[in-house]
Amino acid sequence: MSDFAATKALFHLPEGVIYLDGNSLGPLPKAAPARMEEVLRDEWGEMLITGWNKAGWMAAPMALGDRIGRLIGAEPGHVACGDTLSIKVYQALAACLELRPDRRVVLSDSGNFPSDLYMAQGLLASLGGDYELRVVDPEEVGAHISDEVAAVMLTEVDYRTGRKHDMAALTQEAHEAGALMIWDLAHSAGAIEVDLARDKADFAVGCTYKYLNGGPGAPAFIYVAPRHAGAARNVLAGWQGHAAPFAFDLDYRPNPGVERMRVGTPPILQMAALDVALDIWERVDMADLRAQSIALSEHFIAGVEAVAPQLRLASPRDPQARGSQVSFRFEEGYAAMQALIARGLIGDFRAPDIMRFGFTPLFIDEGDVDKAIAIIAEVMAGELWDRDEYKVRAAVT
Ligand SMILES: *Cc1c(COP(=O)(O)O)cnc(C)c1O
Repeated sequence: MSDFAATKALFHLPEGVIYLDGNSLGPLPKAAPARMEEVLRDEWGEMLITGWNKAGWMAAPMALGDRIGRLIGAEPGHVACGDTLSIKVYQALAACLELRPDRRVVLSDSGNFPSDLYMAQGLLASLGGDYELRVVDPEEVGAHISDEVAAVMLTEVDYRTGRKHDMAALTQEAHEAGALMIWDLAHSAGAIEVDLARDKADFAVGCTYKYLNGGPGAPAFIYVAPRHAGAARNVLAGWQGHAAPFAFDLDYRPNPGVERMRVGTPPILQMAALDVALDIWERVDMADLRAQSIALSEHFIAGVEAVAPQLRLASPRDPQARGSQVSFRFEEGYAAMQALIARGLIGDFRAPDIMRFGFTPLFIDEGDVDKAIAIIAEVMAGELWDRDEYKVRAAVT
């Protein structure tokens, strides 16, 4: 059994804060500052360039990939860590389109995160010709999978509502139509149980600064299924994905495995912070995490609906159809969220009217949820959000 009281003690959480935003940026593992200092002083400081070999810096992208892979049901050696999620989306989609050269349609949904759609638009514009990005309602994806579709590109858990797609079913439908399936796990990795190998995903991508707690700007990851690993081409053919980067060949020759998806020099300091965060995940069983996440979310929904009827549930009511976040709609949601934050309850706001709360059992317990409900009750009943200072939009919401 996972001990969530023990994992909670491993995070730094500021005094007086209830942090329901670990779905956007996970909190600081207490062990991270000392480890970062060690990497700075003992590795960078003392080893200088020899750190690439001696401290294992060059091996970090694949070593971290395996640690992440364990949490998402990936085969060992099939996840590479690095770059940002937007870049990994681009690489996965470009590889899929080359693996389905006779097809011209990329299918996605309107619940996808805009950056994924923008990357697809950018890629298709570069490819020219008659490529088309088809964006349909999330509930309609299955009905639009056809033999025109090269790749179905979906984010499993909707960043606004928390609505969760059925990975196994949609992947199977894509395959039956001869299409490839890309899953974005931004709101899945570390949030819910994922089994990429069992569900036969072709490609998957995700970030590590949300539920995995790797820190702001932490590197992303990409999964390539074993059956595609030797065929998937890296459109961003940087030297770190070369079979022999230090041969300095003038011609590109891909690494035989998923390591080909590396691009350039890995961010070692960020990777050190991520590595510390992943130590905490070693203590966690994903089935326990999912059960606890559902328990906390259900408790929160029941509590909020009892004290704040103005808030309308935007997330699916069925916990099996949700990820690990709960969203409510409220016209003055931005101001209301600022009022909550001013009282120590941190969630976030997604336009036009979504108040979003993430449930992260590693460091949030039932006592926190009770306090959150009490703060929401106070702010909503007293209309404490109705102040000019709460209505001024900041750059990051
Ligand atoms: C958070 C998120 C991103 C962000 O991409 P970055 O390149 O890391 O900024 C992209 N896609 C989805 C689905 C996300 O949730």
